[in-house]
Amino acid sequence: MPSGRPTWLKVDLSALRHNYLQARNASAATVETWPVIKADGYGVGAVAVARTLIRAGADGFCVAMVEEAEALRIAGIDAPLVVMSSITAASAERIVAAKAHAFISDIGVAKALAHHGLESHPTPIYLKVNTGMGRLGVEPGEVDDLLKELARYPSLRVMGLVSHLACADQPEHPENGRQIALFQALVGSSTVQQLTAGRHSLANSGGTVKIPTAHHAWTRPGIMLYGASPFFPHSSAHIDGLQEVITWHSHILKQRTVPAGTSLGYGHSQTTACVSRLGVIPVGYADGYRRRLGNGGGAVLIAGQKAPLLGRVCMDMITVDLTHLPHITPDEPVLLLGNAFNIEDWAGTLQTIPYEILCQIGDRVPRVYGDSPSDS
Ligand SMILES: *Cc1c(COP(=O)(O)O)cnc(C)c1O
Repeated sequence: MPSGRPTWLKVDLSALRHNYLQARNASAATVETWPVIKADGYGVGAVAVARTLIRAGADGFCVAMVEEAEALRIAGIDAPLVVMSSITAASAERIVAAKAHAFISDIGVAKALAHHGLESHPTPIYLKVNTGMGRLGVEPGEVDDLLKELARYPSLRVMGLVSHLACADQPEHPENGRQIALFQALVGSSTVQQLTAGRHSLANSGGTVKIPTAHHAWTRPGIMLYGASPFFPHSSAHIDGLQEVITWHSHILKQRTVPAGTSLGYGHSQTTACVSRLGVIPVGYADGYRRRLGNGGGAVLIAGQKAPLLGRVCMDMITVDLTHLPHITPDEPVLLLGNAFNIEDWAGTLQTIPYEILCQIGDRVPRVYGDSPSDS
């Protein structure tokens, strides 16, 4: 137990490795795997994830912003890094200094990179094409002209085309076939073949696992590495052969017995129906423990059994009902997330997706890295 507040997120690095190998083994040996570790590795901890997956054979890593690439460099990660979004001309110098690769959706950004880059070490860039996501990327009809323009800058090296699947969470969705066919036609064109290194990429987790025609030269799996199904709510991590990576732990800080008819917490939003035993747990919405789990919306696991929340979630504390759990020790361990109430259960209860749950677990919660769930 930590010497500070007894609330921490446990990260099972062997499960992370297992999930990475699920991604890697889903594609041919010649296809590279570049794990996505943006948003601090989906909240898990980008540096620890990178160190673990470099040892497992990852070819490079994807991040969203130059700040994330810099943080990895400062931590001593020297693997290839590609910055996928949020690049402006103003950040070009930092991209070059971090020796990062870059997705390009804008010729102005490419020119800024070219300006700061070195002919002796050209910056690897990927031309991003909008094939249906409708977010970043140039339009398919612009690709040939842009490649010809980019070829004029010796301090840039155009690695390939990239695009992003909009509906990979539903592999049967017709949009996948449409995007894949469009991307295939683009990468097959003679201009693309002449003016790029052929390092094309299209697949996120869903595409990596279920859509081999989306693999191309390298894949970009994210969510699956962290133990949530890319097909949620249509499938679960368990069914997809993924292992649970994070579990969120705490302890009961105080127990009390109250009479029937006792109203509890802010707003007195709930009142006990019978004599009740309550447990107070040191976690709250400031930690990403979502307020909607209060008033019976969620539960924690104590001694393997569910204890529902009573009253509102506070900034730093929650209260649970222990009345049906007779043998609870004074500082009984509590599982907040994981096991019978995992990320996917949270996402279902909160009507969101596992991505949002992971990203919103607060910085205030220490990440504790272990190799398997049994080595606590
Ligand atoms: C986040 C992201 C990914 C990874 O997506 P997952 O669904 O988490 O596997 C891949 N490519 C791009 C461009 C992304 O932004």
